[in-house]
Amino acid sequence: MNFHVLTLFPEMIEQGVNTSITGRAVSKGLIQLNTINIRDFAGNRYGQVDDYPYGGGAGMVMQPGPVYRSYQSVVDKIGYQPRVIYLTPQGKVFNQKMAEDFSKEEDLVFLCGHYEGIDERVLEMIVTDHVSIGDYVLTGGELPSMVMIDAISRLVPGVLNNQVSAEFESFHDNLLEYPQYTRPAEFMGKKVPEILLSGNHAKVDQWRRQQSVLRTMERRPDLMEQATLTNEELQWIEKYKHI
Ligand code: SAM
Repeated sequence: MNFHVLTLFPEMIEQGVNTSITGRAVSKGLIQLNTINIRDFAGNRYGQVDDYPYGGGAGMVMQPGPVYRSYQSVVDKIGYQPRVIYLTPQGKVFNQKMAEDFSKEEDLVFLCGHYEGIDERVLEMIVTDHVSIGDYVLTGGELPSMVMIDAISRLVPGVLNNQVSAEFESFHDNLLEYPQYTRPAEFMGKKVPEILLSGNHAKVDQWRRQQSVLRTMERRPDLMEQATLTNEELQWIEKYKHI
């Protein structure tokens, strides 16, 4: 899978992605990171890529020309028009389902804005997906694109040592993950739940599933509506509510 990032700060993306699990995936060739410095496509000797907004107002706006030319360099390189994600607080809020959808692509372009954003005309011309990482405003699209690259990369086969862990994590089935424990069996007087030491895998699975449901009900009740539950589980929830 190839991630092409159009940015004014390529070093920020490179340092982030080339570290830890995603860094190992890059070294193994499971994912490829291609950063493109929009300033290299400024088209003037000062490297200027922004200008004052028409109509007045605070801040600067990134000009359409450099953004378009940097995008075109990717199209020329790969030979087709890939999906282009514009990171913007005005986009659809990123979630695990979107990560799964994006992970099916061979190439993805991330367009990182800065200052007051990017001239609307070039966005209309090249962007296929507007994505936000949450309802707050950041200084640039670099951190959001790194968040997305991280979440998408872990779904690429081979990136995680244990692929099963990605399949049963929080948001799979619209449920949060059950609580996890490791050694020691007792920590400052607090014991690991007995069932996890029993060696009975069926009972452990059942306990974990119940913990997932309980945790989601308590922490993210908004997810419950979309969760896929068996009739038995629905009855169990009803009983639990009356305890
Ligand atoms: N003036 C813009 C607005 O009100 O929608 C905000 C511009 S913001 C200061 C600069 C850049 O940061 C944006 O172009 C975008 O690429 C990125 N950005 C900021 N917050 C973001 C968020 N929550 N999700 C994704 N990208 C974000």
